[in-house]
Amino acid sequence: MKREAAVIPYGKQEITQDDIDAVVSVLKSDFLTQGPQVPAFERTLTDFTGAKHALAVNSATSALHIACLALGLGEGDWLWTTPVTFVASANCGLYCGAQVDFVDIDPRTYNLCPEALATKLAEADAAGRLPKVLVAVHLCGQACDMAAIHRLCQRYGIKVIEDASHAIGGRYQGQPIGDGRYSDITVFSFHPVKIVTTAEGGAALTNDDELAAKMALYRSHGITRDEALMTEPSHGGWYYQQVDLGYNYRMTELQAALGVSQMARLTDFVSARHALARRYDALLAGLPVVVPYQHPDSYSGLHLYVIRLKLDAISCSHAEVFAQLREQGIGVNLHYIPVHTQPHYRAMGFNNGDFPHAEQYYAEAISLPMFHTMTEAQQVTVVATLRDILGA
Ligand SMILES: *Cc1c(COP(=O)(O)O)cnc(C)c1O
Repeated sequence: MKREAAVIPYGKQEITQDDIDAVVSVLKSDFLTQGPQVPAFERTLTDFTGAKHALAVNSATSALHIACLALGLGEGDWLWTTPVTFVASANCGLYCGAQVDFVDIDPRTYNLCPEALATKLAEADAAGRLPKVLVAVHLCGQACDMAAIHRLCQRYGIKVIEDASHAIGGRYQGQPIGDGRYSDITVFSFHPVKIVTTAEGGAALTNDDELAAKMALYRSHGITRDEALMTEPSHGGWYYQQVDLGYNYRMTELQAALGVSQMARLTDFVSARHALARRYDALLAGLPVVVPYQHPDSYSGLHLYVIRLKLDAISCSHAEVFAQLREQGIGVNLHYIPVHTQPHYRAMGFNNGDFPHAEQYYAEAISLPMFHTMTEAQQVTVVATLRDILGA
């Protein structure tokens, strides 16, 4: 049976009149960039997470780049991350001239597996090629086992970046993601499909004053107006120095104002996502799918709701189920194609079979629509459509 309805997207922002008013008031103000809104947005991030510093930038990709630079990643170094992530979590290593390698996932949480990490670190230590930076990605918003990852990275002297692009508003061991207890830097994304949006945007959070100062430089050309960072006294009111090579990764005032307005609703966004996840769990019971496992240490931001098909129990293929859902107006997606199988990474020597748990996950996973304004009727439609396709 064909259901006639507009496509239900897999993710979608919510923009209220307050959001619009906030952006319009910036347009009528004196500052479109480098005004008061960016620091105000950064304060909402430090207030929410308890981190000491937050640096807003124009994307999470930029945040990952300046995070790696501040940690001193460069040529001859290695960055490790999970294969099940967006390419940006790995590309930041390449931007710095470092080499990238991966650690397979835990088949239950789909996050980087601490046991696999322990084994790989022991091998790398013996071979004298330990990574300098590990990027831990909180997939779907569920926190990695950060206590274990932190313990291992401390032992080997490895810096940790949390890619929390999916996880703002979530908690780990009862504390907000982004508080930096188990990492050097945490990165958020504010792309419209994520939990909070600034259209494009990202942020890097840290408790370390020196890392924050470095990231501030890299965000804006390597230029400073702070005399303490200069090689000679200021020549006058116009004076600045470029003391390093940076970029223009600044966020605009329009974006930051939208972010401030959205952050006021973050807690509601995440509780709405939890209500949706509970309803999906119930609606999907009895279907030949694996619903997301939630580790008791994690209160997920629930950016994504990923199911895995029990392919042994159904007669159609993963690709067929996906295609039929799309045909019937269900905007499913797949997060993610394992990064090591991308042509750009294959050219570095990676192959199918390198990370079997990640590849098995990829063969079965489908992201169902998940956005905080999703209605019960939409969820019922998604699951009814899936049930028909699976013949369950
Ligand atoms: C979205 C995303 C990014 C990149 O975010 P942008 O803000 O689009 O640059 C990085 N890592 C992960 C895990 C993401 O989901």
